[in-house]
Amino acid sequence: MGVVVQKFGGTSVADAARINRAARRVALARSKGDDVVVVVSARGSLTDELIDLAREVCPDPPARELDALLSTGEQQSAALMAMALHRMGVAAESLAGMQIGILTDGVFTRARIESIDPTRVREVLGRGKVAIVAGFQGVDTEGNITTLGRGASDTTAVALAAALGADICEIYTDVDGVYTADPRIVPTARRIPVISYDEMLELASLGAGVLHSRSVEIGKKFGVPIHVRSSFTDAPGTMVVQEVEAMEKILVSGATATENEAKITLREVPDQPGIAAEVFDGVGRHNVVVDMIVQTPSRGGTTDLSFTVPKESMSEALAAAEEVGNRIGAAAVECDQNIAKVSVVGVGMRSHTGVAARMFRSLADAGVNIQMISTSEIKISCIIEGEKAHQALRAVHAAFGLDAEPAGT
Ligand code: ASP
Ligand code: MG
Repeated sequence: MGVVVQKFGGTSVADAARINRAARRVALARSKGDDVVVVVSARGSLTDELIDLAREVCPDPPARELDALLSTGEQQSAALMAMALHRMGVAAESLAGMQIGILTDGVFTRARIESIDPTRVREVLGRGKVAIVAGFQGVDTEGNITTLGRGASDTTAVALAAALGADICEIYTDVDGVYTADPRIVPTARRIPVISYDEMLELASLGAGVLHSRSVEIGKKFGVPIHVRSSFTDAPGTMVVQEVEAMEKILVSGATATENEAKITLREVPDQPGIAAEVFDGVGRHNVVVDMIVQTPSRGGTTDLSFTVPKESMSEALAAAEEVGNRIGAAAVECDQNIAKVSVVGVGMRSHTGVAARMFRSLADAGVNIQMISTSEIKISCIIEGEKAHQALRAVHAAFGLDAEPAGT
């Protein structure tokens, strides 16, 4: 007999019928003899509605009170889930984050879990009950309720699975797994049956919204297998697991296109020591996170320096760049919001050559110009013109053989 953690996202518990459907899944797992721990999200778009309500009452609500309010969404789901199970004759007990001592730091609205004491959950399981835990929340050392950031019920689930030494953490959601690309943009995208933690982390940071990236980090650190699957079917989804050798045979596991960055360029800055440091010191002081950086070769003692930042930090980054640009005598400071980043991710890149060339060739054949390139051990990203994002993604997806076989072949 093992321990299974099942997490149900907001759409999977959106209304009474869906809560009952999820509860049947819990009851089935329980009937197989496993100890079952359930983690739930707030129903449907309740978290958004609570945030809107808070802002109506107070345009800039204190973060502590926002957390106190938002944590109630998950608490509702937990109690409702326990009731649904009760009706099915399955003994269950709901628990809020603070009741089971999910200890976090004190950073309201994006607290990080520091420790979990699984004693109370074990006690509930020991009494033969299903433990239903409200996701997304914890308590700081001063006893304040905290929340862990949007989408963080996944993180509660994986962290609990780690603390309990669970055999598996199942994430039930409204899609049937992780895809080779966003199927809304690439209709030929396929479900990925197995993926490594590292690849999943890269994909999550590139906007594949299926899993909260903290949850993948914790899964990797403690070796918790994560199964992302649909709450509406019994089909297998995507297993996120430790890397195994066979994964290296696949060059690229997934591709993404994101349009959430802007590019800033300082023209003709002096090509001398200390200039880059000065520029990025200036940007960093405004707490702007820089992604890619490219510097052109020196021409007549000057170079062009470009970097990308999240669109939401663009005005701060631009102001910082203009300030530094004036000081160091840049000829101009420009900003381009019309860019996209296409990326391919795969652990196979570590042991195979030619991945970059194949990606660049596919972009060239599609008539897409590359403005910037960055690589990591398992990822290649290119900045391209914003309008060509979807076309580029489809081209790259096909070039790495990720397209599904057409039906009937
Ligand atoms: N309810 C929270 C949110 O909407 C947490 C979650 O769903 O994982 O962000
Ligand atoms: Mg989610």
